[in-house]
Amino acid sequence: TQRLAEADPKVAEAIKAELVREQTQIELIASENIVSRAVLEAQGSVLTNKYAEGYPGRRYYQGCEPSDAVESLAIERAKQLFGCGFANVQPHSGAQANGAVMMALLKPNDTILGMSLAAGGHLTHGAPPAQSGKWFNAIQYGVRADNHLVDFDEVMALAKEHRPKLIIAGGSAYPRHLDFAKFRAIADEVGAYLMVDMAHFAGLVAAGEHPTPFGHAHVVTTTTHKTLRGPRGGMVLTDDEAIAKKINSAVFPGLQGGPLMHVIAAKAVAFGEALEPGFKSYAKAVIRNAQTLASRLKERGADLVAGGTDTHLALVDLRPLGLTGKDADQSLEHAGITCNKNGVPFDPLPPMQTSGIRVGSPAGTTRGFGEAEFREIADMVADVLEGLQKNGIDGNSEIENAVNARVRALCARFPIYQG
Ligand code: PLP
Repeated sequence: TQRLAEADPKVAEAIKAELVREQTQIELIASENIVSRAVLEAQGSVLTNKYAEGYPGRRYYQGCEPSDAVESLAIERAKQLFGCGFANVQPHSGAQANGAVMMALLKPNDTILGMSLAAGGHLTHGAPPAQSGKWFNAIQYGVRADNHLVDFDEVMALAKEHRPKLIIAGGSAYPRHLDFAKFRAIADEVGAYLMVDMAHFAGLVAAGEHPTPFGHAHVVTTTTHKTLRGPRGGMVLTDDEAIAKKINSAVFPGLQGGPLMHVIAAKAVAFGEALEPGFKSYAKAVIRNAQTLASRLKERGADLVAGGTDTHLALVDLRPLGLTGKDADQSLEHAGITCNKNGVPFDPLPPMQTSGIRVGSPAGTTRGFGEAEFREIADMVADVLEGLQKNGIDGNSEIENAVNARVRALCARFPIYQG
């Protein structure tokens, strides 16, 4: 029963380094957040020891009473949060949740229609290197060149031509609301299922600050760790009883073995937090802060994909500044600001370079940054980018260090995980 620091100093040291990094850097990665101590505690609990294959009340092992209690809480809270009739909280990740829907509703080589990676979609929506792209006949739609919004004429034309069994709406780098009703109308026209992957904006839906996919989608998938602010994991939701039954069989025994009961406990805690009134103010602030960050970056010379954001993220086009995403995210990291390079629609550069960066407000909002702080952060980002324009990636250290001092001062005013 040694503590980690004595039992394994090397791992303990790496975890400590991660804690210090999170405390002292500004996190703009749109898919990340900062969970509560309660979520951390649940995830680090003895439930990691337990095998609980099956579902509450129908397990393959003995000793599952506490696991049943935890999973039932997670399920009931998820249903309440999204106002739906069914939740499977066992997927180990968002990719597993999407895989489970495909396992439940499709056969190998069936046709699926999802948003391309290049337009802001996710690997699991039919991208060529992913299982979804290799094991299905994956057709991909994109966005319009003039406004970067989903091209519904193209979605309809592709749906009519290829007759997909599943249409997927949702993405990882799409800053505007998606028109779920239009997607459903197209799905109905060709007899397809509609799956909405709300991984990125689930927290905003839970708070009532984003249009809900329920009432439109046959099935909804999500991760639990982005705007929803829970542990890393996935979930599948639906109101359709026949689909629900298939989803349960697809998750287990179709795709997974034992559920991660410690993660499910942490999901229950996070869903409980999201049901509190404070979560609505958090979600409102997330959107306001993303808009402040984006509009200040535009004032400082960058372009915004789709002209701005309705959500927690913005896609910044660096071409007016003559910079690549690769140099920008590297120099920003040296300054203590983490974000990711990201392709912009019709990007002339390859994915390892890109013409853009993706920035998001969830983690910063959780630690307490408001509009004034996000404006200041935009100025810090813009100062680093201006430095890059003058000095290049190998000569920008003076500016990076100066901005880093401002980053550290701001983070010190909004401490996390103290004591
Ligand atoms: N779906 C979307 C839209 C995502 O953005 C992501 C993660 O980036 C996933 C699914 C996959 O989630 P995970 O990384 O938990 O497998």
